[in-house]
Amino acid sequence: MDLSIVIPLFNEEESLPELCAWIERVMLANNYSYEVIMIDDGSTDESWAIIEQLRNGNSNLKGIKFQRNYGKSAALNEGFKAAQGDVIITMDADMQDSPDEIPELRKMIVEDGFDMVSGWKKKRYDNTLTKNIPSKLFNAAARKSSGIKLHDFNCGLKSYKKKVVKSIEVYGEMHRYIPVLAKWAGFRKIGEKVVEHRARKYGITKFGWERFVNGFLDLFSITFVGKFGKRPMHFFGLWGSICFFIGLCFSIYLIICKLMDFDFTITNRPTFYIALAVMIIGSQLFLAGFIGELIARNSSERNNYLIEDKKGLQ
Ligand code: UDP
Ligand code: MG
Repeated sequence: MDLSIVIPLFNEEESLPELCAWIERVMLANNYSYEVIMIDDGSTDESWAIIEQLRNGNSNLKGIKFQRNYGKSAALNEGFKAAQGDVIITMDADMQDSPDEIPELRKMIVEDGFDMVSGWKKKRYDNTLTKNIPSKLFNAAARKSSGIKLHDFNCGLKSYKKKVVKSIEVYGEMHRYIPVLAKWAGFRKIGEKVVEHRARKYGITKFGWERFVNGFLDLFSITFVGKFGKRPMHFFGLWGSICFFIGLCFSIYLIICKLMDFDFTITNRPTFYIALAVMIIGSQLFLAGFIGELIARNSSERNNYLIEDKKGLQ
């Protein structure tokens, strides 16, 4: 199968018929063998009934319905698990992404050898204050911490090699940083394509202000788990040692002062409290490191490595 198109959706009943018709047009024009996997993320409107209806007219449409709303990341993750195509395309269901971009996105994977290609909504039709400016900040933070030179990490329209989606796990709100997950999984050829963005025709945006907090927290988690997930002590141990060492220096200084001058009162000096606090923080960090190691040791994933190729072995 050439293509799997994965579409997470939450209360998008008005858009679905138009979107499916448009996708079908593009698929027929290019003669692709394809499947469209729609993941209904616990919609409370008629979305699922419409998917069932549309399926009667086109057997390439497939659907997964969540019992409740789990979030876009969960929906994508299930879609990725089910996808069978050689190239996987993700897009939003609200018709802000144009299916006309699909052939070029596929070409960049198949012919230009990219592992994944992310859309870039260069000209964006969303609210400037609540969407466009925060998104610039997010992207700058993600670029800096991941080293991936993308303008738009969170674009819904992306294409992937099958291997990439089968190697990554998207949860929480990590759909914002799939390129970072892909990079940590060892896929380095990450491309970008300017895509057409359209104003939302029906319905409203499904992401409120919480996305600011969650977005940044997830960026921290991804960076941390990617770097130190399998060796937490290297992070906590380092900072624990540094803190403890600083505290120790202060303590030694105080002891020397006391030895040289018996009237020197230790407890009314700021140095004393700094020494105390820093040493306690240091040992706490160490403890966190040990506990982290114990958890990592017991994790069923501790020896899961992604193997690119094998010769002479099964
Ligand atoms: N979505 C989802 N589950 C959610 C929230 C959103 O599947 O809990 C889907 C939504 O239906 C849409 C896509 O994710 O297809 C992007 O959402 P939206 O258009 O609201 O985001 P925005 O474009 O405003 O960033
Ligand atoms: Mg949208």
